[in-house]
Amino acid sequence: MDASATGRQEAALNEQIERAAQLLHRARFAIALTGAGLSKESGIPTFRGEGGLWTRDGEPPMNGYQLFLRDPAEHWRRRIDPGTSTNELGDAIERARPNPGHIAFAELERLGYLRAVVTQNIDNLHRAAGSDQLLEIHGNRTMLRCIGCEARYRLDQVPTDELPPRCDRCGGIIKSDTVMFGEPIPRSVLERCFEAAERADLCIVAGTSALVTPAADIPVTVWRAGGALIEVNVDETALTPYCAAVLNGPSGELLPRLVEAVQELDRAEPETRGSGVKRRP
Ligand SMILES: [Zn+2]
Repeated sequence: MDASATGRQEAALNEQIERAAQLLHRARFAIALTGAGLSKESGIPTFRGEGGLWTRDGEPPMNGYQLFLRDPAEHWRRRIDPGTSTNELGDAIERARPNPGHIAFAELERLGYLRAVVTQNIDNLHRAAGSDQLLEIHGNRTMLRCIGCEARYRLDQVPTDELPPRCDRCGGIIKSDTVMFGEPIPRSVLERCFEAAERADLCIVAGTSALVTPAADIPVTVWRAGGALIEVNVDETALTPYCAAVLNGPSGELLPRLVEAVQELDRAEPETRGSGVKRRP
């Protein structure tokens, strides 16, 4: 690519960042949906797609949850046996640290722009970066959850001398908070996701192709109600044509620029902050 083409591309990207900043500045209730692309920038391998763990090693059994229910104690014995508990993904997650994309989301929440982050990632990096209004739709691998009442526990809160461990509140079986194949997404999380989506007039979709339901329904819900979508992704997705702003590139590079741009607007036009987003017809 020659220098002028690079220049044009950079100008187009700046225009999209500016447009995204305008939307975020005006939004009354902005939310975000994030996926594996964001974690990939922290060195966590993806499952699907080129170089993905499942592409290479084959998909895990689709009935993981049913296998768990058949013998939860055996599942727990394998989980806590140090000889079998190591794996490539687990090791990568242990080493991973939040990247500037995660930090930008936490910053947007702290500055009052973002009301909730719905994530499909289980790696705890949003929380580690400081996000608080976090809806972990596929769970969090550093936590445990009761399959009866959905109470969540930290690992150190649950003794494992008797297996499977039981919930203090309801006596239900405790498993990893990570949602397994075949396992329904915890209803309490899903309800909060859709409450947020129904209130939102803006949704930032970052690092996900948003093809897998129910996560995919979140931007659709916002869009159908007349809200706007901002996409941050290295690739085009099925959602791209519906987005009011498309930030094509790595989240870790583009989201910090968005944070800067929206703060600038905020200083320049404090009177229009939060005046509401309406998608162009
Ligand atoms: Zn319980």
